[in-house]
Amino acid sequence: MKNKEIILKLQSNRALEEGEWIQIFDTFDDEDLRFAMDLAREITIERFGKKIYFRGIVEFTNVCKNDCYYCGIRAGNSNCARYRLDEEDILACCEDGYAHGFRTFVLQGGEDPHYTKEKMCHIVRSITERYPDCAVTMSIGELDRDYYQALYDAGAVRYLLRHETADAEHYALLHPASQTLESRMRCLKDLKEIGFQTGCGIMVGSPHQTNLHLAKDMMFMADFKPEMVGLGPFIPHRDTPFRDEAAGSVDKTLMVIALTRIMLPNALIPSTTALGTAEAEGRQKGVLAGCNVVMPNLSPLEVRKKYMLYDGKVGTDMSAEAGIRTLRAQMEEIGYEVIVARGDFKRR
Ligand code: SF4
Repeated sequence: MKNKEIILKLQSNRALEEGEWIQIFDTFDDEDLRFAMDLAREITIERFGKKIYFRGIVEFTNVCKNDCYYCGIRAGNSNCARYRLDEEDILACCEDGYAHGFRTFVLQGGEDPHYTKEKMCHIVRSITERYPDCAVTMSIGELDRDYYQALYDAGAVRYLLRHETADAEHYALLHPASQTLESRMRCLKDLKEIGFQTGCGIMVGSPHQTNLHLAKDMMFMADFKPEMVGLGPFIPHRDTPFRDEAAGSVDKTLMVIALTRIMLPNALIPSTTALGTAEAEGRQKGVLAGCNVVMPNLSPLEVRKKYMLYDGKVGTDMSAEAGIRTLRAQMEEIGYEVIVARGDFKRR
């Protein structure tokens, strides 16, 4: 079967066989990519209109107990200047975001034991009490089911936790032995069962990734049906064991985004900062491949450069206001309207 026929099969079946995924990733050319992006964009516009959801992201701690080999804020990086925002700082970021019209706040951080279940739930409750019309999304890694449940009970409604790879051996090449795919999958399952709108995702072109791994990622997502999917190209960070690894390809990332949109038509898929870092027009291309979310940074300017997950991250020297303005202009330039509404996942 030709790649275009396989892509149309994905549209009707919302799943493919392993060999079909591998064929696409092994052999797709510019024309296949254009075909997939056009179809993905059509599906996105049909479901969501030419509208892009804005989410305000607050990177509230760059302290992490883990040592993922790809991450610039891993515990083992002694060159990283650490910071933590307290509840008051976080609320100030939300206040700023609310004034700019944001109705979703994403609280993202490393796995930092300083933020106990009680502390974190207090923060979530303070936000939801102050801004009852806003959604709180958490992105703070692997936690006990009890902790997840407490966050949900406190009012958080979405949780982002990239699975990174659906292949246990590949997972072991990206993480130390203390971190396992089994544990990551347990967390994702708990989050879904509790009722979170749950996001998973990968870095395209991560070290040691093969097209078989990508096929497994797509098959995992076909089965798991995440409400959100985070996809960006791998970008190396100079203070990590992967400093000399090649960055992931933007075209392949766009292909993965387009295929994900075709497979999961209702998903919320952000056009990531990593895409915008890999290529100046990356974020716009992400939208043209089927993304429907962008996440401007609301973190205080003085901590931005310290939340450096990979080298060259864009937007670290811009105020929240300037970042929002830039993203809005980028979206309008390609004919899309920015929407600040909550934008919950809907089955349609
Ligand atoms: S990817 Fe997340 S869990 Fe891993 S080291 Fe970085 S912040 Fe910590």
